[in-house]
Amino acid sequence: KLEYSQIYPKKKLNQENINFMSARDTFVDNLMSKMSIAEKIGQMTQLDITTLTSPNTITINETTLAYYAKTYYIGSYLNSPVSGGLAGDIHHINSSVWLDMINTIQNIVMEGSPNKIPMIYGLDSVHGANYVHKATLFPHNTGLAATFNTEHATTAAQITSKDTVAVGIPWVFAPVLGIGVQPLWARIYETFGEDPYVASMMGAAAVRGFQGGNNSFDTPINAPSAVCTAKHYFGYSDPTSGKDRTAAWIPERMLRRYFLPSFAEAITGAGAGTIMINSGEVNGVPMHTSYKYLTEVLRGELQFEGVAVTDWQDIEKLVYFHHTAGSAEEAIMQALDAGIDMSMVPLDLSFPVILAEMVAAGTVPESRLDLSVRRILNLKYALGLFDNPYPNPNAAIVDTIGQVSDREAAAATAEESITLLQNKNNILPLNSNTVKNILLTGPSADSIRNLNGGWSVHWQGAYEDSEFPFGTSILTGLREITNDTDDFNIQYTIGHEIGVPTNQTSIDEAVELAQSSDVVVVVIGELPEAETPGDIYDLSMDPNEVLLLEQLVATGKPVVLILVEARPRILPPALVYSCAAVLMAYLPGSEGGKPIANILMGNVNPSGRLPLTYPGTTGDIGVPYYHKYSENGVTNPLFQFGDGLSYTVFNYTNLVCSNCNPISGQASNYSGVLGQSYTFTVTVTNNGNVQGKDSVLLYLSDLWAQVTPEVKMLRGFQKVDLMPAQSQQLSFTLNAYEFSFIGVDNKITLESGQFIIMVGNQQLGLYLQ
Ligand code: BGC
Repeated sequence: KLEYSQIYPKKKLNQENINFMSARDTFVDNLMSKMSIAEKIGQMTQLDITTLTSPNTITINETTLAYYAKTYYIGSYLNSPVSGGLAGDIHHINSSVWLDMINTIQNIVMEGSPNKIPMIYGLDSVHGANYVHKATLFPHNTGLAATFNTEHATTAAQITSKDTVAVGIPWVFAPVLGIGVQPLWARIYETFGEDPYVASMMGAAAVRGFQGGNNSFDTPINAPSAVCTAKHYFGYSDPTSGKDRTAAWIPERMLRRYFLPSFAEAITGAGAGTIMINSGEVNGVPMHTSYKYLTEVLRGELQFEGVAVTDWQDIEKLVYFHHTAGSAEEAIMQALDAGIDMSMVPLDLSFPVILAEMVAAGTVPESRLDLSVRRILNLKYALGLFDNPYPNPNAAIVDTIGQVSDREAAAATAEESITLLQNKNNILPLNSNTVKNILLTGPSADSIRNLNGGWSVHWQGAYEDSEFPFGTSILTGLREITNDTDDFNIQYTIGHEIGVPTNQTSIDEAVELAQSSDVVVVVIGELPEAETPGDIYDLSMDPNEVLLLEQLVATGKPVVLILVEARPRILPPALVYSCAAVLMAYLPGSEGGKPIANILMGNVNPSGRLPLTYPGTTGDIGVPYYHKYSENGVTNPLFQFGDGLSYTVFNYTNLVCSNCNPISGQASNYSGVLGQSYTFTVTVTNNGNVQGKDSVLLYLSDLWAQVTPEVKMLRGFQKVDLMPAQSQQLSFTLNAYEFSFIGVDNKITLESGQFIIMVGNQQLGLYLQ
């Protein structure tokens, strides 16, 4: 049996850590000794700024704010102010407006606070600092995962923190660490795909990027880093109905095998300073009431020392949504008993008001408040808020918002994420000898909005491309790239809009232009959405987009299909297979247009791989690549996890274990000892004619186990960049955990037996005793 404490041994503290912690403890002890009950409860309360701003002006209602500050000593705020009548009207809010606002709030909070405790402001910087005017927007997490390159997750997070901190906000509500196994679920694009290992590695890389490698428990987190939030802990991403925040039934073994590892890696491995709790229920228990998961597992097994914030109004939801509590008082009791530290947006201020009454009545001991308040004050201390409560309108950081190098980083991420799934007769890259006239069509061909998806401008709802201060659509990208040559002639028509009644005239126009083209590039997908409004009732692609595709394919012209979508929408497999090429672009962000164009034209060699199974029919849903042997052959996905073609050819050779014992007389078979780490090396060679990047994936199969093993599980990935004829040897080390499974007792279990390691067509056997 293995414990998380063995997988993530406690870090050895150095003198600096010890000094920091002791200074912090002295400071916090002293402060807490002076705080009243009301002040303590205020620290545990987080309010929504949209309720305090006036539409159109972004002016804060200072009177109400001052009242909250003096009466309830509110310790935290979140969200984006209202402007133009819309909450979350993000890209419109200039850094100077943000800085003024944060300063004003802080000033009012500090004035109202008897002990001058600064507030902490938190924001959903989901794919870049999406609430800040001109901040760089990255591919959403599913695209990040498709790069199979953790450096992109780190860089995107670093830039996101920088742009959020630049406007005075030290707390980022990201990354999402649930695994994306349910494509009906509106938020699947916020996940790093279906694989627990990818979600763990990408998630931890993001945490390190956001927090600058610091953890807030024993080190400060200074600008330009922010504290981040591992969310939503846990089991949120697979509601049984597919609808956001509805009941999930996920057996304990499954929770621990697939849903917990990414949180363990981000929290215990990478030191995420805060977690946000899953808004939903798991196995009939709202996560907000689960002592087992919020205390025993989170604080006990995962040794989490940071702040656990609820999700939106989730204590009150125990009454009006989950029905586990008959009153606000009971709900507060349930959530406190389970282990929450901070209540996000309590309905009608019920949390601070009623909790104060409960403490006065003796039903909640002050010591329970102290537990959470200490964690919150520790965090504020680590962020330097006591010394520097007011954001420094440090021009040096503010001026970097949206800088060219950041946008290049976003484009580089998009380049490595875009996944070539089909390429008949090597139609791509387009060759000027055979292709002169290109028709570009489809509703997302000239839409920066659709490239960005949800959490971008108004995070739900419609908005126009003109609202993006920068960005390049695919059409613009293609025109820019082909501008200086006379080789290509590009025609464009929209073909069809998404979600409107059939417009045959518009389709006819595209079909007619197709007749005079050598190749048709059609870009279809989805409109932006976020959370519950994005719930869908049918995973099929919009029928009009299918109609457009069908009629274009029927012209007999080669069709290059580009998918710009938040989730794998189902398309008729025969139709997709009759396309000449298929590119999955995910939601590549506002810099995504040019990378797509560069891949079409061969300036960039595609290197993305699918981070999730692309279903061919609805019957394929719910069977990830790491299914059981009994599920072999029961599904027929359109494309598989890990699929991704290149314009060159990579070969793998010489897979060996460097520290196992070769079994004599048996080629490629080794033996070893259970519980040890083993290292495998493999050589990758670029055997084609062009330079290219390759994501090398290493899988492990456990052949026999007391709990049915998966057919395979990803246990390593690395990205290489090779010139033609160049080779590189890669090495992968698998630790004890990676050979484990969740046993019949639901514990992390190691069992002797036979394992297979696979990289491409290479494989070796390993017997562990
Ligand atoms: C979402 C969270 C988000 C929070 C604050 C909730 O509705 O579920 O992901 O961080 O709102 O905006």
